[in-house]
Amino acid sequence: MKKYDVVVIGAGPGGYVTAIRCAQLGLTTAVVESWINDEEQPALGGTCLNVGCIPSKALLDSSHHFHHIKHEAGEHGITVSGAAIDVNKMVARKAKIVKELTQGISGLFKKNKIDWLKGRARIINNKEIEISPQHETHDEKTIVEANSIVIATGSVPTKIPPATVDDKLIVDSTGALKFNEVPRRLGVIGAGVIGLELGSVWNRLGSEVIVLEALPDFLALVDRQAAKQAEKVLRKQGMDIRLGAKVTGTGCNNREVTINFEDTEGKKQITVDRLIVAVGRAPNTSGLGADDCGLEIDKRGFIIVDDQCQTSLENVYAIGDVVRGPMLAHKASEEGVAVAERLAGKPGHINFDTIPWVIYTWPEIAWVGKTEEQLKADGIEYRAGNFPFMATGRAKAMGEATGFVKILADAITDRILGVHIFGPSASELIAEAVLAMEFDASAEDIARTIHAHPTLSEAMHEAALGVDGRTIHM
Ligand code: FAD
Ligand code: NAD
Repeated sequence: MKKYDVVVIGAGPGGYVTAIRCAQLGLTTAVVESWINDEEQPALGGTCLNVGCIPSKALLDSSHHFHHIKHEAGEHGITVSGAAIDVNKMVARKAKIVKELTQGISGLFKKNKIDWLKGRARIINNKEIEISPQHETHDEKTIVEANSIVIATGSVPTKIPPATVDDKLIVDSTGALKFNEVPRRLGVIGAGVIGLELGSVWNRLGSEVIVLEALPDFLALVDRQAAKQAEKVLRKQGMDIRLGAKVTGTGCNNREVTINFEDTEGKKQITVDRLIVAVGRAPNTSGLGADDCGLEIDKRGFIIVDDQCQTSLENVYAIGDVVRGPMLAHKASEEGVAVAERLAGKPGHINFDTIPWVIYTWPEIAWVGKTEEQLKADGIEYRAGNFPFMATGRAKAMGEATGFVKILADAITDRILGVHIFGPSASELIAEAVLAMEFDASAEDIARTIHAHPTLSEAMHEAALGVDGRTIHM
């Protein structure tokens, strides 16, 4: 039986990063991965690279270009006639990016001497893992031994009974990444991160998008100022967002989906060409053998871990989407690095208070730390510095002056407690805020930092000045 220092289960951004860090630290490492891609080939990279972060951003970028050329280029004096979208080419570009990146991970495994064990893992006990081969092979089941096991099995789309995914007219996020034409009318259930990102893709390409959200508030967990502005802008872009809408059933013929739902006005029905179900993701422990090996799982299906990602089984750790905390690729990777470092006898560290969030609509929504609403609920006194992109030269020059940066700082110590951005390239701008919070910076620290002119980052500078009531350009 082959024996390793560490066997990682799952090669998403949690698992593959864990494996690379383990190997860098001199631990013999293998990764078990069962993913089979659209070409019927085993693939590394998990949800994030194959059907998540990367393909969705590829389509968001393509659709952003198209929308810009069609609707905004004119403002710059550029006349473009006959702009058209070739959906199959756009989807093929996305597939090429995914292929290059997933193959890149296989190259990194070779470079770091990590064994990729293709198949499905089941934990026998805290030292042994059984691997079942993929459906195409005739290999026998094998068992490998490990001093430590790291579970990084990720998550899968949540299913809801009134809208069963058929992968034809009703799809989940994976199906929504490979439409072969722009649906004339597109329904989306769930105005969460996926619903808004993928809804934006097809809306920009010309679909009439109707989003049905069960909750009465738009982006309930996002800072209210950012959520309200985003809702207004997305509606203006053409997204028909219906809040407080409870889907009660769907029916399909060969071409269309009829959706029945209820809102405060009563029962309603709409018909769409395609329907995306994006109502959250559930931790994936299927086939892992949790019950048999005594791995504890909570009521919602997450593997129970402590702050160090230690599970109920000695020498078995779990990270990423399959454990508590935000379902984000960078959170999964950082947990993996911390576990690898602890396994190598180093002090692994992860600061859960400084995990950034980004929603890749346009403008983008990004934040780190507490919202104003959370600070109020916690009774923490704070000061807010708020600065609109409208007042920054670079944003005006770019024609991207919608949105703002808001910095929330402790009223007594001035320590930054939260930063919220709705605006152009918020996904990049938030990094400064994350770094500042990681270093326990005060708003004054950012206020005294020189920011290049003209840049979008000046809005961050001005917001920091604003915490002390001394913005220059407002
Ligand atoms: P996963 O990436 O889900 O990987 C788990 C892996 O484990 C899979 O490859 C699976 O095949 C394998 N596996 C499971 N069980 C077994 C088993 N028993 N044996 C062997 N292998 C097994 N996050 C962001 O931070 N930014 C984004 O922009 C972003 N965009 C997203 C867009 C979409 C459409 C979706 C769906 C998700 C997006 N996410 C994004 C979320 C992100 O993809 C996840 O948070 C991330 O992939 C979690 O990483 P993970 O390693 O925990 O799990
Ligand atoms: P989500 O939790 O962000 O949003 C789901 C939405 O669906 C919620 O607003 C919820 O109220 C609503 N909902 C639930 N049941 C419903 C029902 N029956 N009818 C109508 N609405 C309903 O989940 P998601 O958008 O599916 O994304 C899953 C996770 O994937 C995210 O939480 C995030 O962690 C990750 N993700 C991250 C990114 C990113 O970082 N940019 C992008 C995509 C996905």
